[in-house]
Amino acid sequence: MQPDSHTTQVSPFLDRPGLDPTPDPGPALHLLAGVWTASCPVCGYQLATARSQERCERRAARRTCPVCHEVP
Ligand SMILES: [Zn+2]
Repeated sequence: MQPDSHTTQVSPFLDRPGLDPTPDPGPALHLLAGVWTASCPVCGYQLATARSQERCERRAARRTCPVCHEVP
């Protein structure tokens, strides 16, 4: 009897329940009276305002919602 050397090994890294692949939802952008407003998608807190959508997105990306991420 020969030992079976063709057993397939299942990688232990295939299933990682601790990691969530979905990133945080970006800020919600609204155009109000010519001014772009980025607000928290969860609570609606105003994160940033800018004249252009790109700038507004960039500003909001650097900020974290103080309501949802309360600093102790
Ligand atoms: Zn929030």
